[in-house]
Amino acid sequence: MIKINEQLRKYFVTISILSIAFITITSNISINYFFSGYIRDSRKRDDLKVVEYVESVYSDYEELNFQSLMNIMHYAFSEDVIIQIRDKNNNISWNSSKFGIMYGLIDEYSNDEENFLFRSYPFRYNESQVGTIDVGRPRSIISNIEDEKFIIIINSIFVAASILTLIIAIRSSTQISKKFLNPIFKIKENAKLIEQGKYKILNDVHTNTFELHELSVSVQELAERLNYQESLRKRMTTDIAHELRTPLAAIQSHIEAFIDGVWEPNDERLSVIHGEIIRLTKLINELSELSIVEENEINLKLSKVDISATLNDIMDSYEPMFLDKNISLNKNIQNDINMMGDIDYLKRIFVNILSNSIKYTNENGSVSVSLEQINDKIRIIVKDTGIGIPKEDLKFIFERFYRSDISRNRHTGGTGIGLTITKALVEAHEGTIKIDSEVGKGSRVIIEFNK
Ligand code: ADP
Repeated sequence: MIKINEQLRKYFVTISILSIAFITITSNISINYFFSGYIRDSRKRDDLKVVEYVESVYSDYEELNFQSLMNIMHYAFSEDVIIQIRDKNNNISWNSSKFGIMYGLIDEYSNDEENFLFRSYPFRYNESQVGTIDVGRPRSIISNIEDEKFIIIINSIFVAASILTLIIAIRSSTQISKKFLNPIFKIKENAKLIEQGKYKILNDVHTNTFELHELSVSVQELAERLNYQESLRKRMTTDIAHELRTPLAAIQSHIEAFIDGVWEPNDERLSVIHGEIIRLTKLINELSELSIVEENEINLKLSKVDISATLNDIMDSYEPMFLDKNISLNKNIQNDINMMGDIDYLKRIFVNILSNSIKYTNENGSVSVSLEQINDKIRIIVKDTGIGIPKEDLKFIFERFYRSDISRNRHTGGTGIGLTITKALVEAHEGTIKIDSEVGKGSRVIIEFNK
């Protein structure tokens, strides 16, 4: 495994070296190719001038005598070329370089095939060819000292540029890695803290890079979620212990009193035990339901449900309980409202809300249930004139085991799980549930589903 900063430096340096090498090679090739092409053409033009000169000298003297050859040699000298004349049989009859040595005008013979490139042109006089003129020039454009210098300068500039680019590449790789790596290191530390269960002391990550910001936010959210899950798990255990302890303690104290002969098991006392056992059974049933909804394992068996008929049926079955407490039940149910849903779960939702309204409404109170469709929304409102829920409790009302203090004081036999399940079931149907309430005046539960 290589660290990111080392990896980045390696890439930067490699890319810089490759680009400089590429630029150097292509520049050298193009200089040689284009420049030598240009030189070739201009040399040919110059060669033709030389040929023209030789021909004009020949036509002036009508032969190649000492004077004419002297003129040609001087010309060759001044033009920096070697002129060689061949006769009709292709034998070399004269060479400016050799002629120059012969007469002490130059020091060394430079008619060197390796260094000089000879081009041949027909030697014409009076419209007919009398021989061949060879014009020799340095073979390579860069064999010329000036050209060589030019190439050396160009390549030195490339070397200097390479060194500068390498320094810039190394420095910028350090800076770039700092810019990206600092937040990444912080996010990595945060992940480590999450791994150790330290959700609350995560580092703040400052970055203006969108993806890194998103990543850091996701990690923070993950920590919050895990923290919430963990506290939920811890609370769940204490909550269950607490909920089980109360009925079990009541049963235990009653039975101990029977055993010790302190109390006779009469109907009233047995019905207290019976009530606590029912409460325990209800609690256990609700707990298993709760585990289903909290694990997000709600499997909806979808079918077209006639909400109007379902609500009417449930209210009819609850009528005796309303009568029992002398609570008036007002219905305002729009007919033929249908939606896709799980009939059992929908019934469970309505039963929970309706039974709460009975449980928490005093005798002679009233409950009104309305069902209406507004555009593509189905809205169910259950309103009671019950004890109400204190404002500070409202935000916790959907949390499991939560019961407002007022309801705790009343012996409703509630477990505080019903609304948690109800909310999960409503949300499984992609609906919403909210409760408005005022202590002493009553509560209003509003459920909305999409048609
Ligand atoms: P419970 O089994 O205790 O009724 P729920 O989850 O159904 O559990 O309700 C949670 C708590 O919300 C109740 O204990 C009660 O304090 C409060 N609550 C629910 N519905 C009403 C209502 N209609 N009027 C007053 N309080 C209510």
